[in-house]
Amino acid sequence: MLNDIERVLISEEELARKVSEAADAINRDFAGKEPVIVSVLRGSFVFMADLVRKLNMKCTIEFITASVYKNGTAPDGKPDIGRMMLPSLKGKDVLIVEDILDTGVTLHALKELLMQDEPASLKICTLMDKPSRRKADIYADYSCFEVPDEFVVGYGLDYAQKYRNLPFVGVLKPEIYE
Ligand code: 5GP
Ligand code: MG
Repeated sequence: MLNDIERVLISEEELARKVSEAADAINRDFAGKEPVIVSVLRGSFVFMADLVRKLNMKCTIEFITASVYKNGTAPDGKPDIGRMMLPSLKGKDVLIVEDILDTGVTLHALKELLMQDEPASLKICTLMDKPSRRKADIYADYSCFEVPDEFVVGYGLDYAQKYRNLPFVGVLKPEIYE
């Protein structure tokens, strides 16, 4: 698997440091609250696991699915969102945890859907942000890394469902996509 990597974009050490910083900010902003943390599967599962273990308030953990990519690296139409067993968020302080904010189409659709529940507040935490690609009017309240317009894998993010278990964020060799 490591042979398929062209270069490491974000090391394990950098990930740990920035995830801690995001957790510090969330701990400050949500002090005295009991947020519902909603992880967007599958890409955010590693980030989510590291982040929530640094949060010091009581919280509940929920999962939702969203996907726009069928198997490749180009978004494929409208996001497909699954609420799974997500309970009503009415009156709750909600924090969405996402792997990467790219065009923003996914999070925009997700936010609209969850806002129908009338939560008390709704914030977004993303591991990475590619602002140069934004199409939808959406921003993250917490973002660990701004990344260039490159397709990245690892730390939860996949290419064709693989590479999610890499402990760093990297870029694949071009021949892997061919
Ligand atoms: P958006 O709707 O913001 O364009 O894209 C959202 C989703 O596309 C992200 O949650 C992520 O799952 C996927 N995505 C966007 N950029 C990348 C990337 O560079 N690598 C991987 N593996 N997935 C990406
Ligand atoms: Mg995602």
